[in-house]
Amino acid sequence: MKHSMFNHAVAMENGGCVLYNFLTGKSATLNILSRDYYDHFEVYGESHPIVKKLIERGFLVETDELETLRQHVMAQCNDGKEMVLTICPTLRCNFGCPYCFETPRNGKMIKETQDEVVMFVQRMVSYYHTETLKVVWFGGEPLLECEIIRSLSKRFIDTCEKTGVKYKAAMITNGYFLTPDKASMFEECNIRHVQITMDGPISSIHDKTRHLIGGGGTFDRILDNIKNFKGRSNILVRCNVHRENAEYYQQLEKMLMDISQETGQKITVVAGHMIGNNAYEDKSFSIPEYVDFYKDTHEGIKRIQYKGPFCGYPMAMDFVIDEQGYLSKCLESVNHSQEIVGHVRCFEPSSSRMSYADEWQAVLASAWPQEDEECMQCKLLPVCLGGCPRRRRMGEKQCSGYKYVLDDYVLAAAKRKSRHGNE
Ligand code: SF4
Ligand code: SF4
Repeated sequence: MKHSMFNHAVAMENGGCVLYNFLTGKSATLNILSRDYYDHFEVYGESHPIVKKLIERGFLVETDELETLRQHVMAQCNDGKEMVLTICPTLRCNFGCPYCFETPRNGKMIKETQDEVVMFVQRMVSYYHTETLKVVWFGGEPLLECEIIRSLSKRFIDTCEKTGVKYKAAMITNGYFLTPDKASMFEECNIRHVQITMDGPISSIHDKTRHLIGGGGTFDRILDNIKNFKGRSNILVRCNVHRENAEYYQQLEKMLMDISQETGQKITVVAGHMIGNNAYEDKSFSIPEYVDFYKDTHEGIKRIQYKGPFCGYPMAMDFVIDEQGYLSKCLESVNHSQEIVGHVRCFEPSSSRMSYADEWQAVLASAWPQEDEECMQCKLLPVCLGGCPRRRRMGEKQCSGYKYVLDDYVLAAAKRKSRHGNE
C-alpha cells in the first residue's frame, strides 16, 4: 500500500490538510487526527475504518498506477466505438483574423473526393464496428459550401441508418453566414451544436481580431445572427482571450446570457487560450497570465480528473479531412504536408500497408509521454498527459496551467465540495 502518486496535499493551519487526487477528482479534508491515519497508514493497518475509506477513495493504492493509466489511455485511443471526423469542404474563408493558424487555399471538395470520403467512412465503420459517427464541419468557413455539407450529410445519415450507427454533427463557423434561412439546413443535416467566435461585447473590441478579409467589421452581423437563430442547435460562443480583450470577457458572457434568456436559445460561453500562437505572440497570455485570468472566472474551479486522451490527435478514429481528401490529426496540421497521415482514397486501418505508416505510428504513440521523466512523476499526469501531443512531438512542452496554482486549485475544489456536497 502507498500514497497515490496523483495526490496533492495542502497543509492547513490546524494541523490537518486538504487532499485532492488528480486521477479520480476526489477531495477530502483531513483534520489533524485523520491526517495521521493518512501519513502513517502502515501503523494503523488496512482494516482501520479511516484507512479503509482512504483506500476506497483512491488516496491510498496498491497498484502500479502509472502502468494502469498508460494501458487505459492506449486502450481508449484504439477503441473505435466513436469515429470523429472534422471535415473541411473548403479552406477558403471570408475572414482575415490576425491570429488564424490556418493557411487558406482556393478550391472546394469535388464530387470524386466526396465519394471517396463516404467510402472511407464505410470502410472504417465496418472495420472498427463503430457505434457513433460524429462529424464536425469546419474550414476555412464551412458555410461557404452549404451544398457539399447538405449532400455529404445526407449520405452519412443514410449510411448510418443502414448500419445502425448513431449520427451526430456540429459546426465551427465564424457566424457571418449563420442567417435565419440556415435553420432548415441544420435540421436536415442533424447539426445540433454550433461554435462561433466572438472576441468582445462591442464591435470596437471584437472587430480588431474578427474582421473580413481586407477589413470590415463583423460584430453587428454575428450578434444579429445569434439573436435571430432559429433551430434546435445549441450555440457555443468561444472568446479567444488575450491581453487586449480579457477585461471584457465577463461583459460578453453577461450579454450572451441575457440574449439566451430573452430568446430561449441555449448559449454557452467559453474562454479560449491562444497558446503558442506565433502570429499573435505579443498579445497572447503567457500560461501564468492565463491562469490568473481563469482563476477569476467560474472555470477555475471545475472538477478536474482523468477524462480520456488529451485530445483527438492520438486517437485511431479521429481525423481531419481537408477539401482534397488528405487526412491529418489536428486542425493545426491541415495544409502541412509533413503532417499528413493518409488520404481517404487509400487509408487502410491496418497500418502496415499504409504509405504514411511512420507518421501514423508516431501519432498513435504520442498519447503517452513516456519519454518525459518529469511527466512520468507528475501529479497532474492524468489531467494533462504531457499536454498537446502535436507540440510535444515538435519539442515544445507546455505544462497544464493548473501546475502553477495547485494549492489554490485544491483549496477552491474543497470549498466547492463543501457547498455542493460529497464528490
Ligand atoms: S491539443 Fe494539440 S494536437 Fe490536440 S487538437 Fe489541440 S493543437 Fe491539436
Ligand atoms: S506537461 Fe507538465 S503538467 Fe503536464 S504532465 Fe508533464 S510535467 Fe505534468
